[in-house]
Amino acid sequence: MAKKQFKAESKRLLDLMINSIYTNKEIFLREIISNASDAIDKLCYLSLTDSNVGLSRGDYKIEIIIDKDQRTITVRDNGIGMDANDCENNLGVIAKSGSYKFKNEMNAAQAESEDLSIIGQFGVGFYSAFMVADKVTVLSRKYGEEAGVMWESKGADGYTLSEAEKASVGTDVIMHIKDDGEEEMYSEFLQSWRLQELVKKYSDYVRWPIIMDVERYEHVKTGETNEDGSPKFEFKTFNEKQTINSMIPIWQRSKSEVSDDDCIEFYKEKYHDDKDPSALVRINAEGAVSYKAMLFVPSQQNEMVFYADRKPGITLYSNGVMIMESCEDLVHQYFSFVKGVVDSPDLSLNISREILQHDRQLKIIGSNIEKRIKSELEKLMRNDRPKYEEFFKHFGMDLKCGVCDEYGMHKDFLRDLLLFYSSEDKQISLKEYVENMPESQKAIYYASSDSIKHAIALPQCEEVRKRGYEMLYLGGPIDEMVLASLMEQDGKSFCNVVTDDLGFDTDEEKKAAEELEKENKDFLGFVKDALGEAVADVRLSRKLASLPCCLTTEGGLTLEMEKYFRNGPSEEMRSIRATRILELNGEHSAVAAVKNAWESGDSHKAKELSCILARLAELMAGAEIEDPTEFARLVSGLF
Ligand code: ADP
Repeated sequence: MAKKQFKAESKRLLDLMINSIYTNKEIFLREIISNASDAIDKLCYLSLTDSNVGLSRGDYKIEIIIDKDQRTITVRDNGIGMDANDCENNLGVIAKSGSYKFKNEMNAAQAESEDLSIIGQFGVGFYSAFMVADKVTVLSRKYGEEAGVMWESKGADGYTLSEAEKASVGTDVIMHIKDDGEEEMYSEFLQSWRLQELVKKYSDYVRWPIIMDVERYEHVKTGETNEDGSPKFEFKTFNEKQTINSMIPIWQRSKSEVSDDDCIEFYKEKYHDDKDPSALVRINAEGAVSYKAMLFVPSQQNEMVFYADRKPGITLYSNGVMIMESCEDLVHQYFSFVKGVVDSPDLSLNISREILQHDRQLKIIGSNIEKRIKSELEKLMRNDRPKYEEFFKHFGMDLKCGVCDEYGMHKDFLRDLLLFYSSEDKQISLKEYVENMPESQKAIYYASSDSIKHAIALPQCEEVRKRGYEMLYLGGPIDEMVLASLMEQDGKSFCNVVTDDLGFDTDEEKKAAEELEKENKDFLGFVKDALGEAVADVRLSRKLASLPCCLTTEGGLTLEMEKYFRNGPSEEMRSIRATRILELNGEHSAVAAVKNAWESGDSHKAKELSCILARLAELMAGAEIEDPTEFARLVSGLF
């Protein structure tokens, strides 16, 4: 029989498939099943107008038959079938949607570079069979035809086409599974359990039953009896045809059919979480874009991955066929902890990641579900605060990073979801903080250190607390960045008690402070010189009450940010330093002691005491002190 040649472009794709080093070969089954399902759809559709079809909805099925001796997997459908022309047109060329897109994208991605990782992103269609099979036989009979047709190919060198006997309408795709190699094990695909697993993973929700022989063990009577007359039993293995897909996904069912509790059970089983999710979102959208979604907000972090490394948790389906396990382009990274499913008939099965990125419908779905997730979280925050706090403990960092990401583009969307520790010993949102502000309070006060505990202990907080104002305590560099991104809340600006002017002084007080600063100019100048490079300036403070000194910074870059940059990727980043200012409490006895020493001409002692104060300020600010031993020596000298 004459061998026909594939078109050049098909040949190239086939080559790729056959020699594929791509690890995700298992998707072949999804592709072949999906074709079978489409073929049934077509015949089922035809039967609406053609009574000769003679099949009713319940008759359609997809069968998977394994023959271990022949090393074949057959996927059989009773769908529309193909004639010789169809085989030639559909199986011999890349002209159809998915494969065509694949080819174009492949060209763009420089197939030569052997970067085949993109294969899994495509519906690569029928050709994917060649990833696991060295020969594919298609036996088909088209609806309305008496005879069947056989198409056969061993890969890139061409295919044969001939007439064949086939008793019923439909298609058998027979894949002759490759022999095992040193590295590649293909025999696993001849195991019934493995194929069941693949059907469950990729095609569970195909609308038509997928039927397969499944091994079943039973305790049966042997016919003999024991000595006491009781019947003898033995274990027997049966092969039983079973439908292995569930056909109607849980998210396709209405709220009256499936309770929220059922959904939660589904979540726990599918995502291996022993805790109930903190929120459940069920959407049935019809209109410009139709889709169903079932989404879960976990209540705990049970993966060892953080923000940037976390794979998005939403799987994309089109009409019950999984098209992307972890869809990146649906919701932003800050919601990557959300798990669940989005299923839309408006999305094409054969869609690439690159195309998805620009897909308008996907964008609409994404923005709708983000709004729903947000409103669900707001509801939780209002109605069940402990539960929200538990959620925030695990995923608050994602939301904070989301505020800072992309130059603060999403800050207004996320701001109401954030919680901060407050001096009232509870967690509070910025909105709530502003609502609680007394008339006299001008700004949102916060103190920041490397932990909440250290922030509370900062000497600069004393003055604010003395006035009875609520404060926010930030416990890490990201918190400061978040406030820097947010810039304000309901018209109120943020005031960093460590670095900013608290704005408490009256004009007279300010004037008096300036006078005092002037009077002490020489003394402060001495302390500054004594400290050398360590500080940019030394000033008298109006923020201190019971403590003698504190360290502040000037020019926007704070000590917390400096610490953050210290772990940065480049030397340049790591060497970034905040401009340090030492503030002294002019009314404190420790400062008076330094001044006395200086005034009495004991500049050695005055210098040593100045150094002690500077180191104390650094310690309280949570900064590292450069020479701890020298500090210990200085302090020991006081005894
Ligand atoms: P796609 O499904 O993206 O069109 P495929 O390479 O998977 O691309 O399949 C090519 C075509 O071959 C299908 O569009 C369909 O017309 C035909 N085909 C494949 N499998 C079957 C089948 N089991 N029954 C009928 N037609 C089929």
